[in-house]
Order: sequence, then C-alpha cells, then structure tokens
Amino acid sequence: MLIDLRSDTVTRPTPGMKEAMFSAAVGDDVFGEDPTVNALEEKIARLFGMEAAIFCPSGTMTNQIAIRLHTGPQREVICHEHSHIYLYEGGGIMANSMASVKLLSGNLGKITVNQVAASINPDDVHAPDTALVSLENTMNKGGGSIYTLDEIKPIRRLCQEKGIKLHLDGARLFNALVETGESPAAWGAQFDTISICLSKGLGCPIGSVLLGSKVDIKRARKVRKVFGGGMRQAGFLAAAGIYALDNHVDRLKEDHARARTLGQMLEALPVVSEVFPVATNIVIARLEGISPESFMNKLAEKDIKSVKFGADLIRFVTHHDFVDEELEEFGRRIGKI
Ligand SMILES: *Cc1c(COP(=O)(O)O)cnc(C)c1O
Repeated sequence: MLIDLRSDTVTRPTPGMKEAMFSAAVGDDVFGEDPTVNALEEKIARLFGMEAAIFCPSGTMTNQIAIRLHTGPQREVICHEHSHIYLYEGGGIMANSMASVKLLSGNLGKITVNQVAASINPDDVHAPDTALVSLENTMNKGGGSIYTLDEIKPIRRLCQEKGIKLHLDGARLFNALVETGESPAAWGAQFDTISICLSKGLGCPIGSVLLGSKVDIKRARKVRKVFGGGMRQAGFLAAAGIYALDNHVDRLKEDHARARTLGQMLEALPVVSEVFPVATNIVIARLEGISPESFMNKLAEKDIKSVKFGADLIRFVTHHDFVDEELEEFGRRIGKI
C-alpha cells in the first residue's frame, strides 16, 4: 500500500463526487451559459458574503488574476517571503503583472500590521507605489499555520486608510475555518479578493475560485481569458466543487487530527529535531544527522512519499485518501527506519 503524503492534491474523486460530475448540467461557460459553473460561483460568493466569484483551473491562476487586478508596472505587492504567490507561481508577479514585490519575514509564515505599516512606500518618485498586501491562510510554509480574524482586522484597517488592496491566498482557508470556527462571511468582509482551492483538502480533481466585488470579478473574466483560463463545459468540474462544499468541509477536522498524530510519530524519531506546531493538515519536520533526500529515500523504500521543504525540512500533508488505516500503517513503517 502506497502512502502518499506529498500533498493534499493527490486525492482522487470519490464515487459520490464522480456521480455529481457525471450528472451535471452544462453549457459554454465562455458565453456565461454553464448553469453548474454559475451555481458554484453564486454558492461560494454567497457563503463568503462577497458579490461575485469566478471559477478557474488553478489556484495559481486565481492568485495571479488578483495580483493583475490590484497591481501593475511600478506598483508593489507586500507579502511574506515564503508566500506561495512569490515562491511557487513561476515568477508570475513579474511575468503577468510587471509588479515589484516587498518580502517580509515573520514567524510561521505570518506578518503583522506593524511590519506592513513599516513597509508601505512613501509617495516619492524613487519608490514603486504600494498597491497590494497579500496574505496566505493557512500558511503552507508555516506548517499550515492559521491567521485569526483578530490578526487580520488591523491589517485591513491600515490598508483601507492607505488605499491599498488586500488579497487572501486562501488555498486552504477552509482548513483554518473548521479549526477556529470563524465564519466564511466574517472573512469575506475583510478582503478585496479571496482565492480558494477546491483541489486541495476539499478533494476536487481541478479548480479554484476567486471571490471579489462585481466590478473586480467582471475584470477578472477578461484577465482569465488572456491567461488562457476560459473553459467551455466546465460544469463537469464545477459540480465537483459544489459537491465538495456540501460534503467535504467539516471532515477537514479529521485530516487535522491525523496530522497531529503523525507529527507526534515523527517527533519520536531520533533523526527529527523539531516538528513545527501542527495547526491543520500540514506537518513539517526538521531533520538532524540526515539529509531530506536520504530520509525521503528511506521512506520511499517503505512506500511512503513526502516532499523536501527546505535544506533540512520535509513536509507531509494529510488528506481525504489518508485514513486511520494508513495512519497506523505509517506508524508501523517509520518505526522500522
Ligand atoms: C496549492 C496552492 C496554491 C495554488 O496552486 P495550484 O496548484 O496552482 O492550484 C496557492 N496557494 C497555496 C498556499 C497553495 O498551497
């Protein structure tokens, strides 16, 4: 039995999800005529109390569209140095928007209002105009760490005072919400745009949504087209998204419980010097006396897949297809390493 913990993107659609996809009503979404895409966009916009949403093939696309909406040449985005938008989107901030980036450091991938305040450029001919602050929740590189609303609100107030837009890379926002019990609408109220992945913990094969105002999402449709993301009978994919919102949100708690146990199993290994606090479904372990490559090879010999996540770090992500049976098996196998 292969235990694949490289990412929560490795899941396959469940029979119920496939059934929903198979029976979806579809039309041409570039003409705005796919009823299932429209239903998904309306459903998730309503859930977050935001005006509109747009369905896209990937979270990279929804983030990059948001950056294009809010920035441009000689404008700047402020984000954490470990942000997905900076590290893992192929240099898209520059390539797609020709914008500048100011990177901040901070504990577990999070930045504070004071750091943001100190990073806003003066209105001066030398400096790019600070146009956007982008936050990530949960924070992948922070070990799935969570921002609470109380940390966000002062950042929102500051941005509003300064005329700066606020975007959330909420690829795993539902993982945060099921842990804190905060409502989607409370989060929707804090951001100009929010990107959410359906293809991570929610278990869809494809898809992300960008939420925002009617005006921004109308513009986003033009940007999506030029990025090559206008899809036709995409309702087959959107149906999976609707199914996931109805069936796969609450169960994220199970992924978190298994991640905590997995973290304890790793902590007990002599080669693990530290496990980042496990807040959601991501477990990052620091190794000592062995390289990530060698340790991953040993795991691979036992049919366990993980990813290198830094010079001395490896990452495991729990997901829908990793159930108690696999967790117990994981414990038995690493005991023999
Ligand atoms: C996965 C992910 C994305 C989007 O990735 P895609 O693979 O393009 O869908 C964005 N942000 C974070 C934090 C992610 O983990």
